[in-house]
Amino acid sequence: MNMENTEFLLEMRGIDKVFPGTHALDHVDFNLRKGEIHALIGQNGSGKSTLMNILSGGLRMDAGQILRNGQEVNLRSPLSALEHGIAMIHQELKLFPELTVAENLYFGRFPRKGGFIDWERLYEMADENMQTVSRSIRGRQRVGELSVAEQQMVEIVRAVTKNTEVVIMDEPTASLTDEETQTLFRMVQKIKETGVSIIFISHRLDEVIRISDRVTVLRDGVLIGCLEKAEIRDKDQLVNMMIRVRPSATLKEDDKEIGPVVLKTQNLCYKNRLKNLNLSLYQGEVLGIAGLVGAGRTELLKTIFGVYTPTDGEIVVGEKVYRKLGIRQAVKLGIAYMPEDRKGEGLLLKMSVADNEIYAGLEFYCRGGLLNTKRQRQTVEEMGRQLRLKAGSVRDQAGSLSGGNQQKIVIAKWLIAQSSIILMDEPTRGIDVGAKGEIYNLVRQLAREGKSVIFVSSELEEIQTVSDRILVMREGEITKELPMNSTVEEMMRYAV
Ligand code: ADP
Ligand code: MG
Repeated sequence: MNMENTEFLLEMRGIDKVFPGTHALDHVDFNLRKGEIHALIGQNGSGKSTLMNILSGGLRMDAGQILRNGQEVNLRSPLSALEHGIAMIHQELKLFPELTVAENLYFGRFPRKGGFIDWERLYEMADENMQTVSRSIRGRQRVGELSVAEQQMVEIVRAVTKNTEVVIMDEPTASLTDEETQTLFRMVQKIKETGVSIIFISHRLDEVIRISDRVTVLRDGVLIGCLEKAEIRDKDQLVNMMIRVRPSATLKEDDKEIGPVVLKTQNLCYKNRLKNLNLSLYQGEVLGIAGLVGAGRTELLKTIFGVYTPTDGEIVVGEKVYRKLGIRQAVKLGIAYMPEDRKGEGLLLKMSVADNEIYAGLEFYCRGGLLNTKRQRQTVEEMGRQLRLKAGSVRDQAGSLSGGNQQKIVIAKWLIAQSSIILMDEPTRGIDVGAKGEIYNLVRQLAREGKSVIFVSSELEEIQTVSDRILVMREGEITKELPMNSTVEEMMRYAV
């Protein structure tokens, strides 16, 4: 064995990968120590997934070397990577929902006694192993009943019980709540203590800083740097490595004309979640809605869009007054809703192929054969260019794209549907800094084109960045209206 390599469990050297039209990885080096938590960060399309797909045997590199304990290995398939102790947890989980946790954990390797499956032992083993990471998950539970976070844990435990040395997680927190993310990271720490190395891709830089032993940064397929824990200062430092230009803070035009009211709520109530809410949305404005979790912001959007039926009050669209709107009617009136949970509520991403999804939108909203297939394809491709969608082709699986790009598909869908009032609920949640900047620009562009946006976000800075006017909500009520460029402190004052 070559002594110089013994520091690393795994070493990737000069990894190169070209896709048609993209140099996805340009001679990238990456290494991993035993028992470390190593974060891999970078903007959408920077090559993180590609690098990890190569390491987990799912993708062939064009050039480069991979060494394990100093010896070159050939990871020609996911199976051969597994044989070398490397397992990747994919974004789409690969569990059987109708089977129990225990069955999923030991699928294909059930303990046996006298030729029969030893069920008692199976559940014992499952409980024991799950205990190390979570007290609440039991071996006898059906996987389908677990939350996404819990399912991820089952998958990770399954990998670890297979004597895996390296667990790779690609954006494991993208669809998790903050609390679930905390739980997952606690689990990652426990697994690390058993000597397993963890590579994780995440956009949550605060957590990255908190739990990582090292951080590797990619940008446009190029290695920008690898920082030891002691070298990591703060988020800004990482952001500056990730991006070339910071999204500009002043996106708003001063001299903009605000049009007539396009939507109004009058004493709108929904159960005890919305209390006599009065707001007006003007044409061509971005109305930011600030507030803490539970303030009723999501309920407000869902009630306007017709997901929930108001228990009292009215919604006025244009000149017409409605006691309630159904979703179809809302869509007909030109209202679009981008839910907080892109995946769960699956406006779009439930279906597997990006163009299918956009086509589905076209079919639904432009019925009557207004657009032919070729025209649809052109529209989709044009939209992709306009939104700077990073996908190999519009035929790629939407689920295989990063969060930022998935969000762009959702936006594209509503743009194609020619909505004039767009309700956005945490549109930048779980997406990286660069893509966030692009979304802000898009939101401003929508307003410039005369569309009206209600922008809900928990990140007060971004509300400040995009909004022409800000409403602060607390416990189902509007507590304050603030002008453009109000400070985060002002918003906070009325939110708590
Ligand atoms: P990240 O995970 O950092 O968001 P990826 O590794 O997924 O980035 O993508 C890196 C680049 O390679 C992007 O430009 C992406 O569009 C491109 N790419 C990724 N996979 C494919 C593929 N299967 N075919 C064509 N291009 C791809
Ligand atoms: Mg990726």
